[in-house]
Order: sequence, then structure tokens, then C-alpha cells
Amino acid sequence: MGVFNLALLGKQAWRLMQHQKSLLGKVMVAKYFKHSAFLESSLGFAGSYSWTSIWSSKPLFQEGLIWRVGKGDQINIWDDAWVADELGSKIVSKKIANVEKVKDLIDLDSGEWKHDFISENFCDRDVKCILSIPLSMRLPCDEQIWAFSKDGRYSVKIAYFLGKSCNLDNFHKAWVIIWGLNVTPKIRRFLWRVGIGTLPVREYLVYSHMSTDKVCPCCSTEAETMRHAFLDCPTVKDLWTEVGCEKLIWSAGITFADFLVEWKERFSSIIHVGAILLWKIWNRRNDIVFNSVEVSHCTVIERTKALSTDIAAYAEKIYGGIGALLFPLVLRYGNRLLMMLLR
Ligand SMILES: [Zn+2]
Repeated sequence: MGVFNLALLGKQAWRLMQHQKSLLGKVMVAKYFKHSAFLESSLGFAGSYSWTSIWSSKPLFQEGLIWRVGKGDQINIWDDAWVADELGSKIVSKKIANVEKVKDLIDLDSGEWKHDFISENFCDRDVKCILSIPLSMRLPCDEQIWAFSKDGRYSVKIAYFLGKSCNLDNFHKAWVIIWGLNVTPKIRRFLWRVGIGTLPVREYLVYSHMSTDKVCPCCSTEAETMRHAFLDCPTVKDLWTEVGCEKLIWSAGITFADFLVEWKERFSSIIHVGAILLWKIWNRRNDIVFNSVEVSHCTVIERTKALSTDIAAYAEKIYGGIGALLFPLVLRYGNRLLMMLLR
């Protein structure tokens, strides 16, 4: 089945999970997963065409699902997706006998994590992930959200992108890396749009039927694709070398998520400069389109360098030497904050 169809069917799966009391939900529950949750349901034999179709979208749909911790009584500590960092969304520590649900880790009187118990029984990575999840004193119900969209709901567009780009592992990592980057929230939001392919370059506008003009507004010679706008356009080509980021130029044919992971692994010391340069190139392009002003190369370079120095100095001032310790917390809160920022 095509990726687009699967992405569309994911919407049905999402509805089914959210609204089991709807007519479709009741029928499906009664027929196919009376004794288990939808996510654990098996395909079974002789399923209807709609059930088989919805069921087949599960892997794509499930990719972005994560629990938002409330009371913790619905979340299985060991099997469910409920933490998040570059290692993924599941706990990696060894199981503890008779401790099964996330609620077992919460002090219900104070509404706080059982710090001592968690520190003694989980590995460092899990301890950091768990303790960085904020709890509400009200202890609301646990909720399953779709982590990759701005409002926590399933998005066909993003699911399509996920399915299309295929390397889901890198997509997840890229999402975490973007939040961990030492740049402003505005730039993170911008990078996210680059990542999910919704930045309004002209090719995207034509694809979305919002324009018929594909030509790059800066050089007027080629179609403005994402790659053209940031790398291949003759008006920006030299910028990468001039800010010392020539190593970050990525080869054609790979996605933003893939190259971001490579940046992080190989060139983490200059990754934030690369991110700021992308942002400044985008601003320069918008100045041409909307203000008919062409900002010079020198200015773009100066602004990129100045902003990266300012941000580094600010981070040093705020985090000082404990930046590395805070990083996992930033990663954890990032999932939620990123969603808030995108709202
Ligand atoms: Zn161009």
C-alpha cells in the first residue's frame, strides 16, 4: 500500500483510538479487539477490508505515539513509550518485580516522583528521563498524544513525510536534536519546518497549489527547492565556507533529518552556527521577496557570527558549567515545549 494511503488510514486509526465510543469504534472493538487495546490488537483472520486497512497503518501511526503522564495508572513502565531522548521513548533499565505501572513511581500524596526509589532502581539515563517529566498536582488522566504534530494530534501530512523519508529513527533523533540546539526558539521552530518539509519555498507553494511560480526569487534561474534555497543557489553558495561551516554542506538526495543527525554526530561544535546560517539565509531570502531589499553577503556573515557568539555567551551565562547536566532535562521538556511553540 502507498505511503499516502497509509498516512490517511492512520487518521482512522487515531480516531478509533480516541473515540472508541463512536459507532465505528464500537463495531471495531466488538469485532476485533474486545480483549485488548487497539495497539496490541492482532490482524486476526477474515477481517473486513476496513479493519485490515486500518490495522496495516499501525506501524506508521504508532511511530509518533507517546504517553503524557498524568496519574500514571494506565502506563506500563517497561513496555509503553513514555520517556524521550536520543535513545528513544522506552525505559531501558531491568524490570523490577511487582512494579508495573508509572503510578508506582509517583508519590500520590505530594504528586511528585519517588526520587529515591527511582534513583536506586533505574539506570542513569532512565532516572534523568523520568525525573524531567513534569507532574501535575491535579494528577489528570494519562493521555496518548502524537508527538510529532503541533497539537498532539495525528497529522496525515507529517505521517506522510515520516513514511516517505523512511528513516524514522533519524527523524526521531532530529526532532530531539533540534530542541537540544543552542539557538533561539524561533530558529528551532524554523528548523522543524525545514525538517518536516513545510517551509514555504516556491516549490512547496506550487505543490500545495498556492502558487504557480517555482522560480527562485534570489537568482531567478532555477526552481526554488529547499536544497536550492539553502545550498545550491548561486547567491548563497559561498556563505557556508565563509562562516566556517563548509563541512556541514550535505549531499543531494538525503533528507534534512538525516543530515542533521550526521551534523550532530560529526560536527557538534559548529552545528548551532549551521542552524543560524540556515535561518539567516531564509531571512535574506524573505527580505528579497517581501521587502525588495537584498542584504549583502558580508552582512549575512556578520549577523550569523554575531548571533552565534551572543547565543553561546548567553548559554554560558545561564547554564555555566552545568550545561551538560541540564541537557537531558532540556531534551525531555523539549518534546512538550516544542509542541507548545508550534501551536
Ligand atoms: Zn536561486
